[in-house]
Amino acid sequence: MNPDIEEVLISAEEIDAAVKRLGQELTKDYQDKNPVVVCILRGSVVFLADLVRQMQCPLEIDFMDLSSYGGGMESSGQVKILKDLDTDVAGRHVIIVEDIVDTGNTLAKIHDLFLHRQAESVKVVSFLNKPERRTANVTVDYVGVEIPDKFVVGYGMDFDEQYRGLPYIGILKPNVYAHLFN
Ligand code: 5GP
Ligand code: MG
Ligand code: MG
Repeated sequence: MNPDIEEVLISAEEIDAAVKRLGQELTKDYQDKNPVVVCILRGSVVFLADLVRQMQCPLEIDFMDLSSYGGGMESSGQVKILKDLDTDVAGRHVIIVEDIVDTGNTLAKIHDLFLHRQAESVKVVSFLNKPERRTANVTVDYVGVEIPDKFVVGYGMDFDEQYRGLPYIGILKPNVYAHLFN
């Protein structure tokens, strides 16, 4: 195990089972819809790659990069588009793929944006959900695993751009980020 990890919260096997279940649900719900699966960079890349391989239906993939000001370990209310979709979503079924929904600020902004662009439907699939931290009024339609209010890394998720390649979801040792608070 990576020496900076204090505890494995979700093992690779548990991730696999959750992704398979989500893939089955989405396969059923989007069978004839040719959805645009929107990956929110960069944390959702690993989940996206696993998820679409469990979806047995026609689909397209596109990417969006957003920045939220605030830095550190929390997102703020302001969200800026760094890279927009190449796809015109008007009349399309959009599935937003998130790594984790925390405050919900990021999601609220893009959900409304896609509706404004006249998407036929907009649903959200997030691998992790931290409901305790929610401040924005958003619905996560498909959730992999619900977790408590802990900062996690791995399976695409970073701390200071590190740990995205870990095949499990882990909690960092406090000494890894202690310098931020000194
Ligand atoms: P929100 O806007 O819902 O507060 O947060 C959205 C983004 O913040 C997530 O998609 C993720 O990129 C990042 N984030 C929120 N919680 C965590 C966490 O526990 N670990 C990591 N690595 N990123 C997080
Ligand atoms: Mg994200
Ligand atoms: Mg991050």
